[in-house]
Amino acid sequence: MPDSAQPATSAQPSDVAAVLDGLDEQQQAAVAAPRGPVCVLAGAGTGKTRTITRRIAHLVEHGHTSPGQVLAVTFTSRAAGEMRTRLRGLGIGGVQARTFHAAALRQLRYFWPQVVGDTPWELLDRKFSLVGQAASRVGAKTSTENVRDLAGEIEWAKATLIAPEDYPAAAVRARRDPPGSAEQVSAVYAGYEALKARSGQLDFDDLLLHTAAALEEHSAVAEEFRDRYRCFVVDEYQDVTPLQQRVLDAWLGERDDLTVVGDANQTIYSFTGATPRYLLDFSRRFPEATVVRLERDYRSTPQVVSLANRVIGAAKGRVAGSRLQLIGQRPNGVEPHFSEHDDESAEATAVAARIKKLIEAGTPAAEIAVLYRINAQSEVHEQALTELGIPYQVRGGDRFFERPEVRQAVQVLRKAEQNGVGQAGGGGEAGDDPVDLIALVRALLEPVGLTAQAPSGGNARDRWESLLALVQVAEELVAHEPRAGLARLISELASRAESRHPPVVQGVTLSSLHAAKGLEWDAVFLVGLVEGTLPIQHALGEGGAAEEAAVEEERRLLYVGVTRAREVLCLSWALSRNPGGRKSRRRSRFLQGLVPADSPAARTPSRPEQGSRSNRKRAVCRVCNAVLTGTLSVKLGRCEDCPSDLDDELLEALKDWRRERSAELKVPAYVVFTDATLTAIAEQQPTTDAALVAIPGIGAAKLERFGAEVLGLVKADRSTSDA
Ligand code: ATP
Ligand code: MG
Repeated sequence: MPDSAQPATSAQPSDVAAVLDGLDEQQQAAVAAPRGPVCVLAGAGTGKTRTITRRIAHLVEHGHTSPGQVLAVTFTSRAAGEMRTRLRGLGIGGVQARTFHAAALRQLRYFWPQVVGDTPWELLDRKFSLVGQAASRVGAKTSTENVRDLAGEIEWAKATLIAPEDYPAAAVRARRDPPGSAEQVSAVYAGYEALKARSGQLDFDDLLLHTAAALEEHSAVAEEFRDRYRCFVVDEYQDVTPLQQRVLDAWLGERDDLTVVGDANQTIYSFTGATPRYLLDFSRRFPEATVVRLERDYRSTPQVVSLANRVIGAAKGRVAGSRLQLIGQRPNGVEPHFSEHDDESAEATAVAARIKKLIEAGTPAAEIAVLYRINAQSEVHEQALTELGIPYQVRGGDRFFERPEVRQAVQVLRKAEQNGVGQAGGGGEAGDDPVDLIALVRALLEPVGLTAQAPSGGNARDRWESLLALVQVAEELVAHEPRAGLARLISELASRAESRHPPVVQGVTLSSLHAAKGLEWDAVFLVGLVEGTLPIQHALGEGGAAEEAAVEEERRLLYVGVTRAREVLCLSWALSRNPGGRKSRRRSRFLQGLVPADSPAARTPSRPEQGSRSNRKRAVCRVCNAVLTGTLSVKLGRCEDCPSDLDDELLEALKDWRRERSAELKVPAYVVFTDATLTAIAEQQPTTDAALVAIPGIGAAKLERFGAEVLGLVKADRSTSDA
């Protein structure tokens, strides 16, 4: 296999304890479970992704497997990149962490000659034009919208393992809503397959189909593969399609070294054919499986957790039956904020203004996200952010390395390197100054558009952001390898392009709710929460079970959105699309009973609330989650007799310092640090920059401004308490 040259093991027995560090009992049980099937069924933010990363490290450290024998499947290439980074942080390199598609692409390239011979093939990554041709041949509508719908339907059929001729019956069974008649979709699907085969192309789903078939039908291939990969891990298992499951089964063969983690209540890709069935049935398939449930939410404040519990608490159906009540572990934060606006542009302006305040108060822009139901909603927010000069990136950046400006920039860097520019200082005498890689990259990219000032908008701005992101790759590289030169940067870029791990742009993230799964930000804005958008129009109106299922999936989307927030959560909607328009929109049904009655956002009456709960603010103990009543316990954020490793003296010192700083900067105290953050510092007593930024609420900007002072306070406190 292509990368079998990995060292057989990198076990570091001294790190064994570190792998279990910072995990709770249930997480440890999943991490340390013996080889064999493991299933972690848990809600959002409970540490599933953290747990599987640690499990891989644990298996490697105990010599159960070598890193190169592990195949970890994640939902996005970004998640795969993050997992590799985290594993490297634990001292484990060489684990294959990929999406199903990327893994299959790699395997197929390797096995193709053995299975098919020397017939060449090409990857078809845009099926639009072939579907369009197939549609026109059978007389189907070829409008962009219809072709897109047809392509979506073909993708669903392939992901669900349905052949063209079986589509009509399957569509009825699955209550699909085909664009045109089912027979016509079936004909377009067949035509598309024929055109594709004729031109020697494979689409993404073919990659999976062919990989599964190669393993199922060629025992030599299967043997080689199974010898190479012995341990499988799948994140976000609730959103696996039957086709992906077939590939996974082919990978496994008769073996059972499989760890899966997921949350059925975050199933949000059913429309593509994904199903939580495999997750929910895991212990039926593997009766000896270790099954772990996690309930402690480490990501979000109790206020956010409480809202999340209420959103998903109203869910119905089998999936909902698997939900667990999340228990917030973090110190108290602020209540979620609800706001209603006259029109979308007013909503976007208000959101941008709040974002600006957050940034001024020290939240890094990259720690803020605006999430919406459909991509078209991004534009108005892009505009509002641009007006306030706030940097942003629109997510869906997986194709970063294919953008023309990025290709051009990489070309420029290559040329310079070939001409002998930017050789690493480390290559020569020990005393050589290392090359200033960052300044060099900036200088080389200036002529292709990386001006000192960001252009005001449009394409030039996008281009600029991309180039800046390349500089950031250089910065990250230098942080780890201070003597890295241009050649090293180029190889880093090439390996990222290969693994599709795009750099993170330091701006506010604009993303669809779908693309936000698994991710987290300090502050999250959920926008456009009106009927017809969330739930989306096409989920409504069918009536019966189909409508109920579609609406439940929309509710889960809101749950995914709410649970992305660590501290600040703002939910908003607008009563009309355009300024001056008729205010005919109604806020989302999912907000019923959630908007506090005293919120100005409740000014427009909603439909009568069914089964509404009290929205009174309740403080809960961060240790045992009991409702707090006494003044002191509320202030402490825990029951007076619940254990705390909080250093009260340090907290007082931090508060004094904050008072001085905020007076000096003429800003409210919470702008420097919130109480919650100070409490976390006083509990965790970080001694390094890394430990400090690991505390939620402290990002690069705050580290730079206040890091040294805070670490100084911690140090001073330690030396007095040691004395
Ligand atoms: P999602 O369902 O959204 O994918 P998840 O269950 O995968 O969430 P993670 O992303 O692994 O959750 O963890 C959520 C956050 O909580 C992360 O910031 C993680 O570092 C932190 N976390 C997880 N477990 C612990 C723990 N035992 N102690 C402290 N922090 C933790
Ligand atoms: Mg996760």
